[in-house]
Amino acid sequence: VLNEIPELPADALFGIKQRIAADDRTPLVDLGIGAYRDDEGKPWILPAVRAAEAKIHADTHTYNHEYLPIGGLPALTRGAARVLFGDDLADESSERIVSVQSISGTGALHIAAKFLASFFPERTVYLSDPTWANHKAIFEAQGMRTATYPYWDAATKSLRFAEYLAAVKEAPEGSVFVLHACAHNPTGLDPTQEQWEQLVQAIAESGHIALFDSAYQGFASGSLDKDAFAVRLGVEKLRHSSPVLVCQSFAKNAGMYGERVGCFHLVIPDQGEETNATVAPAVRSQLQRIVRSEVSNPPAYGAKIVGTILDDPVLTNQWHDDMVTMASRIGEMRRALRDKLVELKTPGNWDHIVGQCGMFSFTGLSPAMVKRLEEEHAVYLVSSGRASIAGLNAGNVEYVARAFDEVVRF
Ligand code: PMP
Repeated sequence: VLNEIPELPADALFGIKQRIAADDRTPLVDLGIGAYRDDEGKPWILPAVRAAEAKIHADTHTYNHEYLPIGGLPALTRGAARVLFGDDLADESSERIVSVQSISGTGALHIAAKFLASFFPERTVYLSDPTWANHKAIFEAQGMRTATYPYWDAATKSLRFAEYLAAVKEAPEGSVFVLHACAHNPTGLDPTQEQWEQLVQAIAESGHIALFDSAYQGFASGSLDKDAFAVRLGVEKLRHSSPVLVCQSFAKNAGMYGERVGCFHLVIPDQGEETNATVAPAVRSQLQRIVRSEVSNPPAYGAKIVGTILDDPVLTNQWHDDMVTMASRIGEMRRALRDKLVELKTPGNWDHIVGQCGMFSFTGLSPAMVKRLEEEHAVYLVSSGRASIAGLNAGNVEYVARAFDEVVRF
């Protein structure tokens, strides 16, 4: 049997990482993976994280490597729900929100997929076209059927909003819609607040299940609250119609990439106090069954770091400042890249780089241009033309602009 197993191609993103590791050209610019870098191109440990680590290590009573409960660290799951839903909504809906810790955002999506496959196996899961490459794989691995809804219009570099809304209305009742909570990956393009209102309204009217994937909260605007707009709107508007699932990652906004800190939250529709009181424990037990059979209990160290930040108002404020630091630097780099391209008179319009938000820009460069950027300029992007703006800094942005200019022109 082993002799017949086909070898799969390398993962597109992690393949870039390998090629970069084997490339000794300088300058070399990594605009591939979505990980924040400081202005020297180095990974950044958030000051809030450093302070939380110091606090954890200093507390000899709680600093240990014991197992966490199956559902995760309460300081994390509780605090994480507040970050997403806001204090008011979290308090008001507390008996309807069931939260478990997950292996970062991917693990939260995996829990969501397993839960849906157990209790809603016939539903189709709708993904934006395009979306994060792993979405399809995660849902299909659990036997869920996936389909796409229109999202990005390559010709106008804008949202295909009318078609998106029509797709929500036309999908069979009770379908699952995977929505990027903010800072859409890969396009960097989000619906406006008015558009979200219409989308959520249509989701409510069709009895669909909304699944928000929140991997970049804080990265779109620098504000956690602003970036939670769509999730909070969804929870309010779907209150009497359908469950809201939220997959939350702290990989980017707390820089916890490799520590795998995240949460899965399920908000049960309000069915009156009595029903709420029986549904929540049942859902919680099912989510814990999923966690128990797969990871037994979630990883502790990163959860303690984020839980400590969320439990301490001083550290929470520091974290908010850290997010502003990251979001503003990315904003500056968007402007710097656009301005350089304008200065170089690079053919085309580059305003979309500034208009898009979050970590990424969908540049509009073709796969052939991306290939030349890598081969001739040692500038690495995903072949779709998605550039991680966090990889730009004052020292390389001009070089990158000149490289873009060269591949666009010739
Ligand atoms: N969803 C989206 C849209 C993402 O872009 C990512 C990370 N690239 C994730 C989920 C999950 O990331 P992680 O598992 O590292 O939290």
